Amino acid sequence: TLLEAVQAAGGTVPVLCHRPGLDPVGVCRVCVVEVEGARVLAPACVQKAQAGQVVRTDTPAVRTARATLGELLMADHETPCARERLSGDCELEAYYRRYGPRNGHGAAAAEPAPPRFAPRPEPPRRLDDSAPMIMVDHGACILCDRCIRACDDVQVNLVIHRGGKGGRTRIVFDDDRPMGASSCVACGECAAACPTGALVDRPLTGLDFRGTTKTDAVCPYCGVGCQITYETKGNTIVRVQGKADGPANLGRLCVKGRYGFDYAQHPDRLTVPLIRREDAPKTPDLPADRRSLFREATWDEALDLAARRLREIRDAYGPSALAGFGSAKCTNEEAYLFQKLVRAGWGTNNVDHCTRLCHASSVAALLETIGSGAVTDIVRDVEHADCALVIGANPTENHPVAATFIKQAARRGLTLIVVDVRRTGLMRHATHAVQFRSGTDVAFLNGLMHVILEEGLADLDFVRTRTTGFEALAETVRRYPPEVVAGITGVPAETVRAVGRAVGRAKNVMIFWGMGISQHTTGTDNARCLISLALLTGQVGRPGTGLHPLRGQNNVQGASDAGLIPMVFPDYQPVKDAAARARFEAAWGVALDPTPGLTVVEITSAALEGRIRGMYVLGENPFLSDPNVNKVKRALARLDWLVVQDIFLTETAGYADVVLPGAAAAEKTGTFTNTDRRVQLTRAAVAPPGEARPDWAIIIEMANRFGFPMRYDSPEAVFRELCAVSPSIAGLTYDRLAREAVTYPVPEPGHPGTTVLFDRDFPTGRGRFVPAEWEPARETPDADFRFVLNTGRLLEHWHTGTMTRRSRVLDAREPSPWVEIAAEDLARIGARDGEMLRVTSRRGTITLRAEASGRVAPGSVFIPFHFHEAAANVLTNDALDPFGKIPEFKVCAVRIEKA
Ligand code: SF4
Repeated sequence: TLLEAVQAAGGTVPVLCHRPGLDPVGVCRVCVVEVEGARVLAPACVQKAQAGQVVRTDTPAVRTARATLGELLMADHETPCARERLSGDCELEAYYRRYGPRNGHGAAAAEPAPPRFAPRPEPPRRLDDSAPMIMVDHGACILCDRCIRACDDVQVNLVIHRGGKGGRTRIVFDDDRPMGASSCVACGECAAACPTGALVDRPLTGLDFRGTTKTDAVCPYCGVGCQITYETKGNTIVRVQGKADGPANLGRLCVKGRYGFDYAQHPDRLTVPLIRREDAPKTPDLPADRRSLFREATWDEALDLAARRLREIRDAYGPSALAGFGSAKCTNEEAYLFQKLVRAGWGTNNVDHCTRLCHASSVAALLETIGSGAVTDIVRDVEHADCALVIGANPTENHPVAATFIKQAARRGLTLIVVDVRRTGLMRHATHAVQFRSGTDVAFLNGLMHVILEEGLADLDFVRTRTTGFEALAETVRRYPPEVVAGITGVPAETVRAVGRAVGRAKNVMIFWGMGISQHTTGTDNARCLISLALLTGQVGRPGTGLHPLRGQNNVQGASDAGLIPMVFPDYQPVKDAAARARFEAAWGVALDPTPGLTVVEITSAALEGRIRGMYVLGENPFLSDPNVNKVKRALARLDWLVVQDIFLTETAGYADVVLPGAAAAEKTGTFTNTDRRVQLTRAAVAPPGEARPDWAIIIEMANRFGFPMRYDSPEAVFRELCAVSPSIAGLTYDRLAREAVTYPVPEPGHPGTTVLFDRDFPTGRGRFVPAEWEPARETPDADFRFVLNTGRLLEHWHTGTMTRRSRVLDAREPSPWVEIAAEDLARIGARDGEMLRVTSRRGTITLRAEASGRVAPGSVFIPFHFHEAAANVLTNDALDPFGKIPEFKVCAVRIEKA
């Protein structure tokens, strides 16, 4: 464009409607320039440059146009607007100061002359205060459309439009509702794009955004790994912005990443170590006021006691009487230290974390079939795909920024297939939106492969040269013609055929899945089928192809890589493998246990049976996150000794003997690894409150006092050791990560990193087909329990709600629990939308509000699991997938009554 040409030549042209990253539209006209020989002034941001053109950016005509446009735009702009007041960066006011009339063109003037024109008539509902995160002032809007393009083209949420005519034109949300009552998902992209005070982030901490200190970090919520910049004043975070060059987000954020930061400053933060009072017995049902169970202690007293009692249990009952739950919210460095303490310090492999509850079955299947548990291609490569299958995943709520790239690809022509038991937001953008019955994934996927084979759409060349076990797969899927599949899944046979053809005929197919696939007793079989589908169609090893289990927590990939799982050391080196064990024994200087440890749910059962007697829980809240909460409560109450390290006094911490106050993500420096295998450096923006300490430092103290000395002077020193024992990241250093995020494998310094895996072969050599037969879920509806319960997350909340429910915006948008139920089912029960319902399974009962919804099929209900007051996991089934040991969170039978 002319604008780019002028800028490349070192010239300056003012812009308002133009913004890098948005398509140019040329609506504001302040970028006009004079092109020699042209009849009228040209808008530089949209007009294409041509060779030999002579362009003048500072002529009397250009100056007059800019000044007059400034006057028109400023006529109804209250000065200073909210943006100018809060952050001093209203682009219109800056423009007017520089280019407004009577100010001397090109020179900044402190006092701009008032515009000559009368304001437009006051728009109806000019100030819109309805949203908890953004203030709207239609009077300050200059109709530059930046918010519309941010909402439509970048986030693809399609909420903001232009409404009205002529002088009454204004931006509207949906069909002209207040923002807070619209379908806005509060990603904040519009406020980040707005140049004026029309859409402005609220000052959530009461402080304005002027003169802030900026620190680059990584979002603490989901596995997308958006890079952010914390803006702080003193020790207070006042705002979060997306980092434009963050490779996973390109500046985009979702409501959690942008507005969910204030939990770190919540008054409930733990600020001193706590010790359980002697007169506070542990019973499964704790009092509501958990704080009263504890007394304050010094760090020395708490650490000494915490470590001494764990050592006494180890000495009395052996190392396998101890277990540790680490956290996918902690850094790689902290995960590494934690598992090292358990393995090398205590002498057991009983260490696990919430990966067991999200993608353990996916990883089991991936390791078995292609020899690697991570994704084979990065999310953003969906732009190279011509077909994407998203199954059992709800990325618009759980991985919202990843979803933006999928939605953008769909707009550009990607064939998007979305398959789920519940109607998800992504289905709005899908070519094929398929709703099927819970627990029938294997049948559906076998049906797709049946169609692909029957219609000659398999990549037999790939099958012949890169796989084994094809005959057994072909034999199995032959038994799943679409008509049979329709009977099992409820999906019409024609739809099965259409989807099978779409996958089979596409050049590049990416497969994304989430916990709708993994959290089943057949989770490993479900994932095996997806892998077989990719192998059968040759869809691995090129950009825009491959397998992508969307990882949940911000660092679940990194925590797993760092060895926070019971059967493998860091970098997935099996504890049973003598050579691997010898390497770690040499590195850590102690003999190591050759037996894989217990997994999360097995540890709970062992605690209930008295086989596990002491536990150290770092940043996890099994009380709410694990299935069958009543059993978990009894297990936690039964423990002889429980140490909990966290930032809040969680439900789990209520059972602790010692509570150690740790640090929130914004308070720590270290590395996180996102769902793409991308390692990113996050930096501390503020200090932990009170006496709270960074978690890496607490783990070291616990190790030293246990009698296993650890000497590290910084997270960087820990990272060096982690890289030294992990071939996949051997080429990484903090210096490099300070400059760039790197996707592993990165086996040596200077290696560029690897986004696409397995272009030639698999770690197992050939990919292995492992056929699976469909089996129903462990618990299906019957006469007493007529409904199928599905559980999951909400856009606004994260996991057990420890952080998000203490964030003002997130809590305001989703303050209380509900059960989503089909309107006809609600009528059958004799209840109305919004009334309280009692939901009962074979394991417990909860009471919560009814939400009549078309998203769930009749006979099915959905409950988000974030709410302690109606914990969905009271109901869920702790039956395990035999391979991944993941519980069946996604299917159990429940009874529903009016409460
Ligand atoms: Fe954070 Fe995930 Fe949202 Fe990105 S998509 S801002 S990583 S929660």
